[in-house]
Amino acid sequence: MTTYDFDLICIGGGSGGIACAKRSATSFGKKVLCIERARLGGTCVNVGCVPKKVMWSAAHIAHTLKHDMEHYGFSTGGEVTLDFPKLKQARDKYVKRLNGIYASGFAKAGVEHVFGEATFVDEHTVKVTDKDGQVTNYQAEKILIATGGRPHFPPGEGVEENCISSDGFFDLEDLPKVAVVVGAGYIAVELAGVLNSLGSETHLVVRKGRALREFDPLISEALDREMKHLWRGKGRTDGGNKKNITLHNGDTIYNADVVLMAAGRVPNTEDLCTDCEWAPNTETLHLEKCGVKITPRKYVVVDEYQNTNVENIYALGDVCGVVELTPMAIAAGRRLADRLFSSNPIHTTSKVSYEYVPTVVFSHPTIGTCGLTEPKAIEKYGQENVKVYTSRFSDSHYGIFDMKPEDKPKTVMKLVCAGLDEKVVGIHVLGMGSDEMMQGFGVAMKMGATKADLDSCVAIHPTASEELVTMGTWGTSPQESGAKVSPLNGAAAAEPRLN
Ligand SMILES: Cc1cc2nc3c(=O)[nH]c(=O)nc-3n(C[C@H](O)[C@H](O)[C@H](O)COP(=O)(O)OP(=O)(O)OC[C@H]3O[C@@H](n4cnc5c(N)ncnc54)[C@H](O)[C@@H]3O)c2cc1C
Repeated sequence: MTTYDFDLICIGGGSGGIACAKRSATSFGKKVLCIERARLGGTCVNVGCVPKKVMWSAAHIAHTLKHDMEHYGFSTGGEVTLDFPKLKQARDKYVKRLNGIYASGFAKAGVEHVFGEATFVDEHTVKVTDKDGQVTNYQAEKILIATGGRPHFPPGEGVEENCISSDGFFDLEDLPKVAVVVGAGYIAVELAGVLNSLGSETHLVVRKGRALREFDPLISEALDREMKHLWRGKGRTDGGNKKNITLHNGDTIYNADVVLMAAGRVPNTEDLCTDCEWAPNTETLHLEKCGVKITPRKYVVVDEYQNTNVENIYALGDVCGVVELTPMAIAAGRRLADRLFSSNPIHTTSKVSYEYVPTVVFSHPTIGTCGLTEPKAIEKYGQENVKVYTSRFSDSHYGIFDMKPEDKPKTVMKLVCAGLDEKVVGIHVLGMGSDEMMQGFGVAMKMGATKADLDSCVAIHPTASEELVTMGTWGTSPQESGAKVSPLNGAAAAEPRLN
């Protein structure tokens, strides 16, 4: 019988790789090596969720100071200023602390880790080249590819030289006066929202009409409205004289200090395909050495159990491109460890479910969503079997604001229900608190909640989330006097709308 140095090698010390490595070692006593070429924690910890949330929190404070404070009687007695370098320093220190926590977590779990670029030699051997050029080969019975993804610059002359990516956003030493963010996905929306709230003159450039087009139309339309509402009235900053950006529609944005390209991400399979439209890479995993198949867009092909086409090699997380979120990669990593190493028969079919994954966009205001959009539900169940409840109101936070009801920021909600029993197959919320609201509703949806189940739940008052458990049952809701809950289609308040 062949013996290997390790039971499992995880290539990539990000969300998925760490989760699988630790579970395999702590729960099943396996000998595990994790190989990371940059910093432990991967995208999420270093250039993703974590520093992004810090920046969103800073933006949220700025937003409150600028837009809300005075309505509640506060005054700073002068201009509020942001010490951006101080914010960056505190954020970077926090991230560094997390890098250390991951390293000590590995030590406690008995997981070995090395830093270096991993490439395949064969299906059981991985070569690691460290930053000094030292090469070491490691062998394992099983190998996990959890190499994540990276930002992608679209082709075009000067694009890469003149733009930064989301990674570069976290390197900014100061707040740009004028920022142009290109992209229609959640990363573009989030980073543009941060820049705008912190005080940059921010331009979000999208190709087709509006951002987040994959989201429920109610959400993308409402976000568009809220962004225009919040961002209006910004003056052009003169000076700077940095970059002028001419758009395809002929518009020009002048004097941009920063152009942030957030036009998509690509998997770190490192191009076996030399004729792909995106840039060739110098480093490579050399998947051809082990025969692992990738899609034309270079994601690793896996089945629902994270198996690749090679018997002892698995892949998960962003490198597979299914649901590119940290908790998804973590859950897939843990389930895979259970399936590969547990002796408990209930784990032999252990796999992660990609259905009803709640997710949040940290925009201003935030968006929380879980399950199917209305168009997707109609596609799946047929128009006649889908019932939709919508609501639009001002959060009670804005109750005391001395402004016209129509000028107050709006919360919008949609429940998408399917079948005679009105199973809740989609929940979509844009508005204050939606980020913290969605987790619990995600559990309810996983358990197969119906509209009647939501109705039977006693609401928490006064909150925005109470609207989700009372939609269509009150006619109107006392969210705020003067601003009645009204469905977007103009029918009776929060009445079910049959498609
Ligand atoms: C700006 C931004 C914001 C985000 N915000 C959120 C959020 O709010 N919530 C959320 O859930 N998700 C968010 N994400 C997505 C989330 O970060 C990813 O889904 C998650 O990190 C994927 O985990 P992973 O393990 O697949 O890959 P990663 O975390 O990317 O880890 C892969 C690791 O593999 C390493 N690696 C790659 N190739 C090699 C090699 N050849 N040898 C050795 N090491 C290698 C990389 O250096 C990296 O550390 C965000 C992403 C970005 C970019």
